[in-house]
Amino acid sequence: MVSAFTYRGSAAHIVFGAGKKAETGSWIEKLGCTKALLLSTPHQEADAESLSGQLGGLSVGVFSKAAMHTPVDITEEAMEVVKTTGADCVVALGGGSTTGLGKAIAYRSGLPQVVIPTTYAGSEVTSILGQTEGGRKTTIRGDNILPEVVIYDPDLTLGLPLGMSITSGLNAMAHAAEALYAQDRNPVSSLMALEGLAAFKRSLPALVVDPSDATARADALYGAWLCGTVLGAVGMALHHKICHTLGGSFDTPHAQTHAIMLPHTVGFNTAAVPGELKPIADLFGTTPGTGLFDFSKDIGAPQALKDLGLTEADLDRATEIAIENPYWNPRPIDRVSIRKLLQNAWEGTRPA
Ligand code: NAD
Repeated sequence: MVSAFTYRGSAAHIVFGAGKKAETGSWIEKLGCTKALLLSTPHQEADAESLSGQLGGLSVGVFSKAAMHTPVDITEEAMEVVKTTGADCVVALGGGSTTGLGKAIAYRSGLPQVVIPTTYAGSEVTSILGQTEGGRKTTIRGDNILPEVVIYDPDLTLGLPLGMSITSGLNAMAHAAEALYAQDRNPVSSLMALEGLAAFKRSLPALVVDPSDATARADALYGAWLCGTVLGAVGMALHHKICHTLGGSFDTPHAQTHAIMLPHTVGFNTAAVPGELKPIADLFGTTPGTGLFDFSKDIGAPQALKDLGLTEADLDRATEIAIENPYWNPRPIDRVSIRKLLQNAWEGTRPA
């Protein structure tokens, strides 16, 4: 029987396919815009400059200082460039960091956004903006944060290094895993979550064999869209709380932290929601936690938090932060069980 649910579709335009970056100009025009400011990290500046050249008169230039966790001082610098150039939209070319800068500009200015993702983080389809100021990360939600157009062009992910492809894919899979037991899940979010997990189950091992496998690249980016969409649609729980704690307070790298924690948090929650997580066991084998652990080990993902520079002593403080103001979670949490979960993830022990 289908239980009662609330469903809200996204207003964003999704454009998917190899070579679709070439349609960026026509999407800028469809938005009624003529002066796009292109955004990138320093690392992807050359790609942004090249796109700017292709856009010709539709581009007012490139701002290439996007950085992890959207520092407010960089956004303010970008806002000055928006003013001086008279930009009427932004085009973010890159991963979650660049998308974050585009969202931060849209939040402050109301400018429409075109996002061209080059990782699997999924930020481009959520109305969530995380930004940092004075060492503190805050999160805002708002309709004007959600990008208007997302162009998924798998060709742009062909150069995403294999290690980042793997951790970024597991980061996306974590959105889908938590969506399966979200309190506000609905039949469509669960379908998308499962389809996203299946896309990564197919594509990540294929990318290990050949990182330039075009079919696998398209599959992975399709999975990223699905997993990002459910991240934006339903609430996240313990897994995301722990990863935000580790990233926010201990500066552990975003995608790697998600990759390591995923089998442990899913293993922990299986006791409370075995039925909701059974599809993960069906896909990955054995139990949901061990299935994901073995899958990530087989594709060469990092396995232990200690390898990210976290010390054993940090685990006590991480436990305290993770259990204060907890997100809703299907299994009740307490200090002892979270400390144990973190210890196992720190050591890289195979979960139950
Ligand atoms: P990232 O955007 O920080 O990228 C990491 C590095 O890889 C950068 O130097 C980038 O330029 C480079 N890179 C990206 N794509 C590449 C490619 N195809 N080839 C070569 N190099 C490439 O990493 P990320 O994991 O995509 O994003 C992490 C950030 O996104 C975090 O700040 C996180 O909080 C945020 N995020 C936000 C949401 C949300 O909904 N608000 C969701 C997911 C992630």
